[in-house]
Amino acid sequence: MIYDVTIVGAGPAGANLARLIGERYTVLLIDKRELGIDKGSGPVGKCCGGLLAPDAQEMIARLGLGIPKEVLVDPQLFAVRTIDLNNHLERLYQRFYFNMDRGKFERWLISTLPAAVDRQFGCVFQDYVPIPGGYELQYTRGGQKCSAKTKILVGADGAFSKVRRSLFGEKHAPEKYIAIQEWFACEEPMPYFTAIFDQEITDFYAWVIPKDGQILFGAALRPGPDAAENFERLKDKLTRLGFCFDRKTRTEGAYIYRPTRASYFRAGKGDIALIGEAAGAISPSSAEGISYALRTSLFLAESLEKGLQSFLPRYSAKARKIRFNVLLKNMKSPAMYVPFLRKLAMKSRVKSIR
Ligand SMILES: Cc1cc2nc3c(=O)[nH]c(=O)nc-3n(C[C@H](O)[C@H](O)[C@H](O)COP(=O)(O)OP(=O)(O)OC[C@H]3O[C@@H](n4cnc5c(N)ncnc54)[C@H](O)[C@@H]3O)c2cc1C
Repeated sequence: MIYDVTIVGAGPAGANLARLIGERYTVLLIDKRELGIDKGSGPVGKCCGGLLAPDAQEMIARLGLGIPKEVLVDPQLFAVRTIDLNNHLERLYQRFYFNMDRGKFERWLISTLPAAVDRQFGCVFQDYVPIPGGYELQYTRGGQKCSAKTKILVGADGAFSKVRRSLFGEKHAPEKYIAIQEWFACEEPMPYFTAIFDQEITDFYAWVIPKDGQILFGAALRPGPDAAENFERLKDKLTRLGFCFDRKTRTEGAYIYRPTRASYFRAGKGDIALIGEAAGAISPSSAEGISYALRTSLFLAESLEKGLQSFLPRYSAKARKIRFNVLLKNMKSPAMYVPFLRKLAMKSRVKSIR
């Protein structure tokens, strides 16, 4: 059998695409994680802050979906506490986030897939070779080699995507950060999401998010031998500010792309498309990526409505909106990441809450 579309990665981008095209085309969806097995409340989700930002909420609405309450965690957050360690400033801003369990969110998305989608979880994509009319991809399941034939291949395999690297190598890839997250038991109420800026530690940012009796401390750092040390240094600084990081329950990590140029966005090549973070679709200012994953997968699904022929130019044209959005976010970034400009913005108290 030759599938019409094979999607590598069942995160928000891959799962949403499979949901949208799964009744019209024969679809194979593979993911290295065991997303089909309910492992209860274990750490099954991708390493993520689990905040659904307003843009992502809008996408959920555009897709005609509603989030079940089981996906949410306590508390729901309406404020960002911004701590600027370079300028010794702190402000509170109103924001509207859905605070959720990322693992449950992913499982819920998977539960919306049409029954016809062939899901192969616990399978690691390795490589592909062109064949007449498409591609033959190789993947492994529990160490066993498997293969499948497909007309179209979609890379939805997130940051540091293997599919993207097979097409474009490391050249023109978005800047790569390593995100480390540690979870701590914490009973104290924390009714805000904290964003921490400290140029000595990272030129991106760090965060603390309360989640169901725990707090999640994470930071996006330049990869390298100093990353873990910088993470610990920041933890020390925050401990001195009163954060309590005593009772650690788990540590996790993941790569995160930061497209500091709109040209890092890549729609794909030949009959191979990229969606979500694999395409370089993620906010370079906040690292919010779920709305981009949902939007790019919607654009690709719309591009496939007219058939498989010439779908990539159609997708590429639609994705211009993503490039433009990334450009705008990059224009906004200096106000957040240049310490002097951030100082001006915070000192002005514009839009801050007392
Ligand atoms: C620490 C951290 C915190 C974040 N917090 C937020 C947040 O709070 N809100 C927000 O909107 N965004 C957040 N993001 C960004 C967001 O998680 C991503 O941008 C978003 O998940 C991208 O969706 P995706 O489907 O493109 O990729 P992913 O969600 O990364 O999914 C990729 C999938 O591909 C699978 N995969 C990868 N390689 C292979 C392979 N070789 N074979 C088989 N399967 C493979 C993975 O298992 C995964 O399921 C955060 C990112 C990080 C790292």
